[in-house]
Amino acid sequence: MSEVDQAKMDITHNIGVIQERIRQACLKSNRRANEVRLLLATKTVDVPRIEQALGLMDKPLMGENRVQELEQKGPDLKQPLPEIHFIGHLQSNKIKHVLRWVDCIQSVDRLSLAKKLQKRLEFENKHIDVLVQVNTSYEDSKFGVKPDQAVALVKKISTFARIHIKGLMTIGLFSDDKDKVRACFKRLVAIQQDINSLQIPGVVMDELSMGMSGDLEIAIEEGATIIRVGTAVFGERQYPDSYYWNESDNND
Ligand SMILES: *Cc1c(COP(=O)(O)O)cnc(C)c1O
Repeated sequence: MSEVDQAKMDITHNIGVIQERIRQACLKSNRRANEVRLLLATKTVDVPRIEQALGLMDKPLMGENRVQELEQKGPDLKQPLPEIHFIGHLQSNKIKHVLRWVDCIQSVDRLSLAKKLQKRLEFENKHIDVLVQVNTSYEDSKFGVKPDQAVALVKKISTFARIHIKGLMTIGLFSDDKDKVRACFKRLVAIQQDINSLQIPGVVMDELSMGMSGDLEIAIEEGATIIRVGTAVFGERQYPDSYYWNESDNND
C-alpha cells in the first residue's frame, strides 16, 4: 500500500475510533451520541486530509486556529464549504479576514475584541455566532476570560446586537490527574448555569465546547456538546501547541 493510501486508511480508522469513544462516553453518562458534535481541529493539516476526514462526517465541522492558515486553505476547500469555526486566539486586526470564512468564533474572550467585532459586523451588515472562551485552568499560557469575570463579559457582549452568544468554550488543563481536568469542565458548566439563571436577553447557553483528543471522555461526561479533536484523527503535529496558544498579542 502506498503511503498516501495508508494515511487515508488511518484517518478513516481514526474517525471510527473517535465515534466509538463518543458512543461509549455517552452511554456511560446516559447521553445520546447525537448530542455531541465532533469538530475536526485542523491546524497544520493539509486540505486533502481535511477533506477526507470531513467526507466521513454526517455534519462536517472543522476548526482552525490561525487566520492566515484559514485563508490559505479556504479557497481550496470543496464547495459547499463545511461549517467552519475559529478556535484560536483572535487578534482584532484579523477580524475582517476571519469573518469571510467562519460560521462561529469560539474564542471571544475580551470586550475589546467584541467591540471591534460588532463594529465590523455593522459595516458588513452581518451577524455571527460566538462562544465565550473561559480559562478554566487558570494557566497564564492559555487565553480565555477568567472564570470569575465570565458572567460580566457575557452580559456586556450580549448588548452587541450582531453577536449571538451560543455558549462557552474551554481548553482543559493538560494533566494526568483526571480530577483536575474534570474540575475545569465542571467550572465551565457552573458558569453556564450561572448565566442561564440570569436569563440575559439574546444569550443562549446551549453549546459547551470542551474536550480534545486526550480528555474527550471526561468532557462528554460533564456535558460537552462539541469536542475538538486533532491528534486522534490526524496524528501528532510538528509544531508544539504553544505556537498556537502562546502567541503574543500586541494588537489591542
Ligand atoms: C489543537 C486544538 C485542539 C485539538 O487538540 P488535540 O489534542 O490535537 O486533539 C482543540 N482545541 C484547540 C483550541 C486546539 O488548538
